[in-house]
Amino acid sequence: MKELYDCSVIGGGPSGLTAALTLVRAKRRIIIFDSSNGRNSSSAHSHNYLTRDGTSTHEMKELGKAEILRYSTANFKNAQVNKITKNQDVFQLITDDGVYNTKKIIFATGARDVFPTIDGFDQFWGKSLFSCPYCDAYEFSDKPIIIISENPSLLYSFSKKMLNWTKDIVVCTNGKKALTDKQRESLLQRGYKISDQEVKCLKGCNGALERVEFMDGTSVKVCGGVMAPTRVEPGSTLPASLGCSMNAFGITTDVLGKTNVGGVFAAGDNVHSHLSQVSIACASGSKAAIGVNTELSEEEFNLYRVSKL
Ligand SMILES: Cc1cc2nc3c(=O)[nH]c(=O)nc-3n(C[C@H](O)[C@H](O)[C@H](O)COP(=O)(O)OP(=O)(O)OC[C@H]3O[C@@H](n4cnc5c(N)ncnc54)[C@H](O)[C@@H]3O)c2cc1C
Repeated sequence: MKELYDCSVIGGGPSGLTAALTLVRAKRRIIIFDSSNGRNSSSAHSHNYLTRDGTSTHEMKELGKAEILRYSTANFKNAQVNKITKNQDVFQLITDDGVYNTKKIIFATGARDVFPTIDGFDQFWGKSLFSCPYCDAYEFSDKPIIIISENPSLLYSFSKKMLNWTKDIVVCTNGKKALTDKQRESLLQRGYKISDQEVKCLKGCNGALERVEFMDGTSVKVCGGVMAPTRVEPGSTLPASLGCSMNAFGITTDVLGKTNVGGVFAAGDNVHSHLSQVSIACASGSKAAIGVNTELSEEEFNLYRVSKL
């Protein structure tokens, strides 16, 4: 008979690995599936996680995996989960590596950044072009920066926030109506420069952005850094296909990561895409694992009492 895991963790990023660690330390038999496409995988270094500030992003993931695989009840597959079905209380996961059965699921499938259609954008992403000031803006402190966003719900608030890191800011709307007249006036009064030109392409070498070129032939030299707050989407369509309720920031859960679908929990950027930080993803992974273990313990406790009577 096929092995029945206590929990399958789908996604081996910070949230999934932390959930896995909490579960194996609760003596749970688990399996992690990871398609190795973490949100910060293009970034060389990860900042803002206590004891690991500035550590290689790749190394952080490998350290996490190694810690978990020390436990005999942990299993890890470099495989994508493609489909999930439920038969009574058992989920069946159809993956690139075969079919697996599990009692509970944690979706730790992350979020995906949707890039504007600017030539060269993907070449620089995570290397010299970033979206999160808490992760990467410190390195640009007091240097000239360029903000590119065509998103009206992000650009003004993001631009205001950046003033704390530097006073030398060019705001690029990429030819879209991303600022109201009032917002534009308020930025200009504070010394921001604004470019309404559509960006033609980003130019540079080996991931280092050197120039933003506009459709009208003009360009801005990149002396400090470029920030581009992106729109994000769920990292996987599996939660929605299983019937998980969604909100503006991802999957709707309770405080212990429980979704509206029985036996299904979620953690990380796919729950709170507006709070994208490794530390926050880890915390929510741990909470979802506690949620899973609480539910399993409750179910087992009830069965145990019945079988002894
Ligand atoms: C460019 C960039 C730089 C960043 N730098 C920092 C930083 O310095 N410090 C910081 O705190 N935060 C940083 N962040 C944010 C950080 O990357 C995220 O908050 C964090 O990765 C979220 O962790 P997660 O586990 O929720 O998702 P992810 O790390 O995205 O992991 C999700 C995993 O699930 C896998 N997956 C998805 N679907 C499936 C499936 N169907 N089957 C199997 N596997 C699947 C993916 O392949 C991926 O490996 C950065 C983000 C970006 C975009």
